[in-house]
Amino acid sequence: MTTAVIVLVGAELLAGRRRDTNGAWLAERFQSLGVELCAMHTVGDDPAQIARAVTDGAASADVVVVSGGLGPTQDDRTRAGLALAAGVGLAHDEAAWQSVVACLARRERVPGAAERVQAEVPIGGSWLANDLGVAPGLRVQVGTAEVFAFPGVPQEWRALCEAHLLGDVAGPPPDGGGVIERALWVIGVPEGDIETRLATLPALDAVAVASYPHQGEVELRFRALGAGAAEAVDAAWVAAAAELGSHAFQPPRGGRIEHLVVGALAARSLRIATAESISGGLIARMLTAVPGASAVFPMGWIPYATEQKTAQLGVPAALLAEAGVVSARVACALAEAARAHAGTDLALATTGTAGPGPLLQEGHEPVPAGLVFVALARAGHPTESLRLKLPPDRRLAQRHTAVRALDLVRRVLAE
Ligand code: ATP
Ligand code: MG
Repeated sequence: MTTAVIVLVGAELLAGRRRDTNGAWLAERFQSLGVELCAMHTVGDDPAQIARAVTDGAASADVVVVSGGLGPTQDDRTRAGLALAAGVGLAHDEAAWQSVVACLARRERVPGAAERVQAEVPIGGSWLANDLGVAPGLRVQVGTAEVFAFPGVPQEWRALCEAHLLGDVAGPPPDGGGVIERALWVIGVPEGDIETRLATLPALDAVAVASYPHQGEVELRFRALGAGAAEAVDAAWVAAAAELGSHAFQPPRGGRIEHLVVGALAARSLRIATAESISGGLIARMLTAVPGASAVFPMGWIPYATEQKTAQLGVPAALLAEAGVVSARVACALAEAARAHAGTDLALATTGTAGPGPLLQEGHEPVPAGLVFVALARAGHPTESLRLKLPPDRRLAQRHTAVRALDLVRRVLAE
């Protein structure tokens, strides 16, 4: 089994101003690929500290992966740290420089003087193309270990790890007996209830089950090791999916509920619009984060203030006054109006009160924080609504609302 050490570089990590996601992401990828991660060190922007961590890592593992410190600024010292660890100097690499220049040109920028350091490579090492950003990655031998360094920007880090590292160091184990993992996602069942329901399933005895709540979604991971692992994990997955029924789903690889919904709409040539009050555009933001969203999502409204529900979408003022702005009837009216205005097959609407205090309206009982209604209008079907009682916290309530709204779409498309 390949062994690895991760070195995270950055004063902001040591100071607690930024939380590491790069190391955590790679640790998870290593685990699923059967690479044994021995240690993860965090060091400041200092060549001597970086060199020490790399040298220590190289003495104990096959691969050392360094995150961050490859940019053009004074505090980007990973190049110097790698050269120190390898006991070599740094030299300008013309091909690396041309890749930096080409990348800047794509952004309509001319390289400044500071940019040139990004083309420095430890002598004997090589540079690795970075399609998403400017700074190339680096690869150098230290003792018997291969050392890789990739930029700290999380999107670049992930892309470069996938492109230059994970295909080589990992790959399926030769005996087929490595770690096998499969995820099942659940919406609408509290985490504790999931555990209770799964506790009765014998198929789960043969695997390790981990559960990760993600603000409205729960990710279950089934994991097994060694011979028969793939069959055990599949059996556990199938049993859990059957127990949880329509609450459980499998998003596309690396995706979430929004990826599944956009994919399902696109596959059926359906389009959806949104009218978001409490979720403030979060559903639109989630949908438009998915490549290809323009084919399924032409537009959304944020009729946040009560009078805007009438002004933008023509929801009758009398209905708002009679039913109360936070009500199933208003959610349905918003969804139907959005569908009619946008000319789409479906439309989602949300209304609710995010808190912290209750919503006070003349002639109505106070609406407690966290009360939300979501509605889905569909061509040829009655409009459906969902009443939710969510955590009395703005950010959480908005996130849960958006997830539950998208889940309504997932469910009707699965029918
Ligand atoms: P750049 O060219 O942007 O300077 P870099 O390779 O020099 O890239 P850093 O300067 O260390 O990388 O970090 C770039 C950005 O990525 C910063 O916003 C930093 O906070 C973030 N970042 C760095 N390391 C991590 C990490 N381990 N987890 C999450 N974010 C990180
Ligand atoms: Mg930097």
